Amino acid sequence: MKTDVLGIRFDNMTRQEAAQRGAQLLDEDRFHYVVTPNPEFILDSEKNPAFRQALNRADLVLPDGIGVIYAAKILGTPIKERLPGIEFAADMLKCLNLRSGRLFLLGAKPHIAEEAGAHIREQYPNIVLCGTHDGYFQDEEALFREVADARPDLIFVCLGAPKQELWMTKWGPRTGARMAIGLGGALDVFSGHTIRAPESWRRLGLEWAYRLKCEPQRFGRMARLPLVLVKATKARVAGGKGGTKRGR
Ligand code: UDP
Repeated sequence: MKTDVLGIRFDNMTRQEAAQRGAQLLDEDRFHYVVTPNPEFILDSEKNPAFRQALNRADLVLPDGIGVIYAAKILGTPIKERLPGIEFAADMLKCLNLRSGRLFLLGAKPHIAEEAGAHIREQYPNIVLCGTHDGYFQDEEALFREVADARPDLIFVCLGAPKQELWMTKWGPRTGARMAIGLGGALDVFSGHTIRAPESWRRLGLEWAYRLKCEPQRFGRMARLPLVLVKATKARVAGGKGGTKRGR
């Protein structure tokens, strides 16, 4: 069952349900991709049909952002819980470790992916880190060949939105991987360069506020986010448009 929040169809799952579904996808011998939209994605995809299509065609669409949860509630179609991409990524690393699978890390500034890979390998020693590449490449074709030649099972694609979603739909199926996940700034976190909000802030739904405190330059980006709540309210008042539950 998908829950439509202003044009993006989210999977309505607990973290455990998403991890189980992710494990099944990792076991299937074909390409899947996972997206983790936050309110910024919803706003940006309104003006970018290719981005919206890439989000809605994903195998899993996980709500990364408390604003999505609030908007769904306003629309009268609540979503079970917020599911930060980084937590789903950690669950997939556990699965990959059990399978001694191959991981490729794509994105972030030079050397960050290598550092993230070293930390991941310390925690999940059975994972084969089959390749890394920063996210500031010019030659898409050459990068694609490098990824495909590394024969990954799982790819973390951390290029920011919509670049990562468009990369996954364009190149993902030809990489031979079983899963790619679009994860924004996750490599900065796995490498230790960015610290996630403490558990107490997360529980209060204030991860965004912590991020703003650490990265005040994000204020301009974040100032738009309440717009999602305004749009959800308007849609609800107009008769629940954009907030309908649909079968898959
Ligand atoms: N990035 C990249 N290539 C680009 C643009 C961005 O690899 O062309 C990286 C950037 O270095 C950062 C991540 O993508 O690591 C984007 O992080 P952002 O904070 O925008 O994502 P969020 O975590 O908010 O989804």
